[in-house]
Amino acid sequence: MSTYYFDNMATTPLYDEVIECIYREMKTTFANPSSVYRIAQRSKLKLQNAREFIARYIHAESRELFFSSCASESNNWAIKIALENNSDRNHIITTTIEHPSVLNTIKEYENNGYDVTYLSVDNNGYIDINELQNCVSNNTALISVMFVNNEIGTIQDIKKIAEIAKEYGCVFHSDAVQAIKYFDIDVKELGVDLMSFSAHKANAPKGIGALYANKRLHIKPMIFGGSQERSQRAGTENLYSIIGFHKALEIISARKEEIIAETKEKQAYFINRVLNEIDDVILNGDDKYRHPANCHFSFKNVSGESLLLLLDMNGICASSGSACGSGSLKISHVVEALGIDEEYKNGSIRFSIDEHTTYEEIDYVVETTKKEVEKLRGV
Ligand code: PLP
Repeated sequence: MSTYYFDNMATTPLYDEVIECIYREMKTTFANPSSVYRIAQRSKLKLQNAREFIARYIHAESRELFFSSCASESNNWAIKIALENNSDRNHIITTTIEHPSVLNTIKEYENNGYDVTYLSVDNNGYIDINELQNCVSNNTALISVMFVNNEIGTIQDIKKIAEIAKEYGCVFHSDAVQAIKYFDIDVKELGVDLMSFSAHKANAPKGIGALYANKRLHIKPMIFGGSQERSQRAGTENLYSIIGFHKALEIISARKEEIIAETKEKQAYFINRVLNEIDDVILNGDDKYRHPANCHFSFKNVSGESLLLLLDMNGICASSGSACGSGSLKISHVVEALGIDEEYKNGSIRFSIDEHTTYEEIDYVVETTKKEVEKLRGV
């Protein structure tokens, strides 16, 4: 049976050029970048080139970019850095729709005495800037608001939030995991202090993340040990994945506008077909201003989990929430936060495409989804 991969916000397949590049480097660049002999210089150079390129990609300085094992680690680290930099304050502001790697980390600090405000969102997933303005104070150590939501594709006004954070001396962290491929990220222009990234959302390997930390911040180590990552995160670097991350971003930068345009066109086609051809379905998130890959629907009177299983039996990979949350029958915290009608919210499914998704694949997915939704409704 063919596979129809419509879960690109969970992870992306590696570009062929990335696989070829990693394979080549595995043979030639095996030396430890911390070693002193000549062949290690090649490893060191590859690491340095990757750091410089990725830093430029987000308009940061290379000394402001740290590699980590994943974005979950970057989020944990960012929150720790922020709270240590504002250690005389004990209030945190975040949102109800953050990734669990932010929410659960903040929960841990809350259990240890921090006061936390969870900003609510409207039914498109936007926070209310007035609500933020009303709760921020000179006691707020950290504001953590994601750039793009991983379930419904909502894009927050990061620049505005950064201005508010600055006014009150709060450290501002943004989880930009879902933004890396399709958005122009200029950390200076946006005014963020900390930003988290993951390579596997941009056709690069899993197990490699990055953290941007503004040079004015005092960084405390995430892992104690050797002198890697300027002594802030010990451990021999995941060099091949870092090289793959670099390669993938080079490919994306070279044709970013086309990638965005192609994906958006396919997204519009997919969304329109679903809304026009399947009864009683709503699109979640903003209908125009959304992540180009994201198509998140709620089907009335349908069990999302049953629909996912039926889609899988037809070769279709989709998701009922974030990958980390699936496997449970619980409705995702993001869907809960949107305040969707009871009869719709159980039937929430995220499809996420990419520039390689074909119109034939979309046609198959729309037609199969319609057939299986009707079967579940007993039509
Ligand atoms: N933040 C967001 C918004 C995500 O979508 C994800 C992954 O799905 C993560 C963080 C965690 O990334 P990683 O898998 O690299 O830990």
